[in-house]
Amino acid sequence: MENNFHDSEWQCDFGDFVFRPGIIGYVLYTPNSFWYSLSMNWNDLSTRILEGWQLDRESAMGILKSQDHELLSLLQAAFTIRRHHFGMGVSLHVIRNAKSGDCPEDCAYCSQAGKAETDIPKYNLQSVDTIVEGAREAATLKAMRYCIVTSGRKPSVADLETICEAARRIKREIPIQLCTSLGLLTTAQAKTLKDAGVDRYNHNLETSESHYGAICSTHAYSDRVATAQTVKASGLELCCGGLIGMGESLEDRVSLALALRDVGANSIPLNFLDPRPGTKLASLPRISATDALRALALFRFANPDRELRVAGGREACLGALQVLALYPANSIFTTGYLTTGGQGHSSDITMIQSAGFHVSEITDA
Ligand code: SF4
Repeated sequence: MENNFHDSEWQCDFGDFVFRPGIIGYVLYTPNSFWYSLSMNWNDLSTRILEGWQLDRESAMGILKSQDHELLSLLQAAFTIRRHHFGMGVSLHVIRNAKSGDCPEDCAYCSQAGKAETDIPKYNLQSVDTIVEGAREAATLKAMRYCIVTSGRKPSVADLETICEAARRIKREIPIQLCTSLGLLTTAQAKTLKDAGVDRYNHNLETSESHYGAICSTHAYSDRVATAQTVKASGLELCCGGLIGMGESLEDRVSLALALRDVGANSIPLNFLDPRPGTKLASLPRISATDALRALALFRFANPDRELRVAGGREACLGALQVLALYPANSIFTTGYLTTGGQGHSSDITMIQSAGFHVSEITDA
């Protein structure tokens, strides 16, 4: 018996096994797994994560299967990790839909897919001046990052030139970090973007490998992983996340959280499906706010020191509980999303400040 865990707690070692106090009763740790006989002790889990232990699949499933009455304890533990790495800061991102609609791909959730019967605005790539002006507006809102997004499978030569010209001007004129999201990317294209001053590239895995075939037929999960790896190899930061609520299982959510760790995502935007009329997933129900919060906690535990952004669907899925998302997540999109609006910048600032958080400065990046 030793007394080195907490001042008032003790643990027993039996060779490879260790018993420690849980919420109710004692819990068994083995060298490679971390499970509880009766109930998860979320503070124990966050302590282990901060000590360097990597979340395993079994414990990840325990997070997603936890009960509503445990939710505040779970979020408190996720917050312990978030606060350790990011304090009380919330980084704001502004997304710019620089080219909208008529995409040849068939992502089932996306209202910009060419076959989706939606009435979203459709336009070709915006001008350099328009894109730069968007960055200037984002900076006035204290956004840390401006994210230029285009619809389509991959960037054309002409579009890449325009984006790079905009990037050079933004980096010269405006104090803001720059991310682009232009689809599948080659090594040469990644280098071109980096040379133009782009800091980060977004390409989401979206869901698990096993569920990917159910949401897209025009490209494969392996294509997405390959682009993520290309981004990392190029020296750009990788922004890589997913979309929860597309009919996937809890196991699929765990697989995504662990795959993002494996691919080395620096930043993880977690979206929640707000089914769009005219898309293949239009008839799916939204997931509950409590399931969305459990998912955010999972992604924090699995990726403790990574920027975690509560992204699209925040307002629609979390509703009155959305401020609770700031306990596992340390970043939000403000001023809305690609084809849908948000609650507005001033409401975002009120939400952040009323809970005791503050907007992160660009010097914190
Ligand atoms: S590739 Fe992007 S823009 Fe095109 S359908 Fe898929 S998510 Fe939408």
